[in-house]
Amino acid sequence: MSLSGLEIRDKFLSFFESKEHKKLPSASLIPEDPTIIMTIAGMVPFKPIFLGQVEAEFPRATTSQKCVRTNDIENVGVTNRHHTFFEMLGNFSFGDYFKTEAIQWSWELLTKVYEIPESRLAVSVFRDDDESYEIWRDLVKVPESRIQRLGEEDNFWKSGPTGPCGPCTEIYYDFNPESEEKIDLEDDSRFIEVYNLVFMQSNRDANGDLTPLKKQNIDTGMGLERMAQVLQKTPNNYETDLILPIISKAAEIAGRNYDKEEHRMKTSLKVVGDHTRAVMHMTADGIRASNVGRGYILRRLIRRIVRHGRLLGIERPFIGEVLEVSSRLAIEAGFNNVEEQAEVIRKEISREESRFLATLERGESKLQDVLEDAKSSGDLVSGADAFELYDTFGFPLELTEEAAVEVGLKVDVEGFQSKMQEQKDRARAARGETDLTSATVYAELSQTTGGTEFLGYEQTYSKKCTV
Ligand code: ATP
Ligand code: MG
Ligand code: MG
Ligand code: MG
Repeated sequence: MSLSGLEIRDKFLSFFESKEHKKLPSASLIPEDPTIIMTIAGMVPFKPIFLGQVEAEFPRATTSQKCVRTNDIENVGVTNRHHTFFEMLGNFSFGDYFKTEAIQWSWELLTKVYEIPESRLAVSVFRDDDESYEIWRDLVKVPESRIQRLGEEDNFWKSGPTGPCGPCTEIYYDFNPESEEKIDLEDDSRFIEVYNLVFMQSNRDANGDLTPLKKQNIDTGMGLERMAQVLQKTPNNYETDLILPIISKAAEIAGRNYDKEEHRMKTSLKVVGDHTRAVMHMTADGIRASNVGRGYILRRLIRRIVRHGRLLGIERPFIGEVLEVSSRLAIEAGFNNVEEQAEVIRKEISREESRFLATLERGESKLQDVLEDAKSSGDLVSGADAFELYDTFGFPLELTEEAAVEVGLKVDVEGFQSKMQEQKDRARAARGETDLTSATVYAELSQTTGGTEFLGYEQTYSKKCTV
């Protein structure tokens, strides 16, 4: 059955409404929970209920939740199934139904509503979760050869070292069901995970011991774009009706034809398509480019669009034009805030784009020189060169790193960081100060950002004045 993205979404929500779930609108990408930087899953708005801090108004709910996952940024355009922005369809039980219903309904949805042949599906269960294994085998009648037990990393959910937790079961689509080989669900050339069911059944205490929860919950997630890939029979999520029109617009601006492009150009077009949706929804939800937190995520995504635009040969500002297509799709999909905020979105993103283009123009020939030098002397861009690009030309380290990777080079990150530290020390010495907290500040920063954070040209220049 070939369904449009919107039909897939509607069918999911209607199916669970027919099972007495309350349909709720998507929450903002900015979570209410201050400990979470972005809404990364359908369960985020319900976290206080799952943690027992708030009573649920309804025992069952279903949503299509907008999500942004930055942990998948490097996967965009590289795997066939990962985005930064995507919609997660979900059905939730707050102390109401549990494993049997969740498993049986997921199967009914996939095989009866979406009409996926049973032979195309396979499932994983958590290593020790015999109960789920038996439901799949005995009630749903999935052959044992198509049930795989997996470990804690993929199939056990927890929100922290203590608190509610439990096993998951994941449902995969098989691109090659005729294969005689034993199934290996981790082989993503054959399988794609489409639906994940989490069974919150235990509480873990400070000693690591598990006790059964009084109220057991169900939290599930199905990627809309992945289901579109499966049902529209496209080779990846990007070529579905949810994203391809944006990619085609970017290709048109670049004077290219997506279908005829080689791998690298296709990857850049996918990055533009993916990130355009992300920056549009983030801005519509009130995020503004900055050097910290989610503002920095937005800034980084906009910069990546610009860079990949240049790799495609687009030198002029162009995000406004792709945003038009992306906004049209979002408005058709019912995202009213994209319509209401249309002007703000265009202005904010275009301003950031222009600023970054100016930076790139200043530093691009220097970057080329640095890469040429590095290539002729080995495979490493020196810390000093990366630091000069950062300090004098405003190039974030990750930008230099990405450009280096594209031509088969690496950057001496430690060398970069020691140059950065030297400069800080010099600045401090010049001011006659001692900063006892700097080491901790660094450790914290690298923990929260997973690497070095670009502090922006504004700060670069003001910092230089103090040296
Ligand atoms: P994978 O193992 O493929 O990275 P995951 O196990 O990290 O997926 P979950 O956290 O279980 O994903 O999220 C629930 C569902 O949301 C997944 O089964 C998938 O359909 C979808 N999903 C998760 N991450 C992404 C992403 N980055 N882009 C698109 N869809 C996603
Ligand atoms: Mg993942
Ligand atoms: Mg997974
Ligand atoms: Mg999963």
